[in-house]
Amino acid sequence: MARSLLYAANWKMHHGPAAARTFIERFLELTRPAEGRRLWFFPPAVSIAATCEAADGRPDITVGAQNVHWEPKGAFTGELSVPLIMEFGARAALVGHSERRHLFGETDEQVGRKVAAVLKAGITPLVCVGETLAEREAGRTEQLVVRQVDAVLERVPSAEWSRVVVAYEPVWAIGTGRNATPDDAAQVHELIRFELGRRGVKVRVPILYGGSVNKGNVLALLARPELDGVLVGGASLEPEGWAELVGMGA
Ligand code: PEP
Repeated sequence: MARSLLYAANWKMHHGPAAARTFIERFLELTRPAEGRRLWFFPPAVSIAATCEAADGRPDITVGAQNVHWEPKGAFTGELSVPLIMEFGARAALVGHSERRHLFGETDEQVGRKVAAVLKAGITPLVCVGETLAEREAGRTEQLVVRQVDAVLERVPSAEWSRVVVAYEPVWAIGTGRNATPDDAAQVHELIRFELGRRGVKVRVPILYGGSVNKGNVLALLARPELDGVLVGGASLEPEGWAELVGMGA
């Protein structure tokens, strides 16, 4: 079976609706659907509808939210529920991105609840896990990543993992220009798969690598069969550069 690769763009707090539309229009001029390649975009919430509209007719593109609340509705000022982001057209959601965990205090328990809520609504969670530099240097990468995966397993029974995608994103590699080596990444991907298997997950869960991925390192990373794709922030912000990057592994 041909390999399937997923390229996910996390635009963080960039590209309002007009810029998102312009980006996608240009990106569509530069790319064609390619066998086995899926393209996911995570624009800011206000740009989800515009991104979906602009990408309409491209079956290889999925648009998702960068964050969701675990309750479907209620008194949660400033939050967005899964049904609300679905009304905009989102069909995926990033959960537990390191910026959410470290800048906004999101806990393992909240991440687990969010993944369960996303699955319950019938869309796909992209769950991010990864250690900080201090944890890596203290030799605690394994312990930390397993703890984060286990917190999701607490809320999501093993049978439901066929609809989950994981991203391994070492915190020290995000937006720093310092990426994990293909060996580092592959080793942690294997560890995650081992833990999922040990806890009864029978399917092969796709695992992306994220952290300063760019045109110069993507091929070496994707050469490792343990990686099923990449989650990219900075290098996904320009349509020309992003189109070139997603074309490199095709
Ligand atoms: C990210 O935002 O998930 C990310 C990996 O960012 P960058 O590619 O800029 O390191």
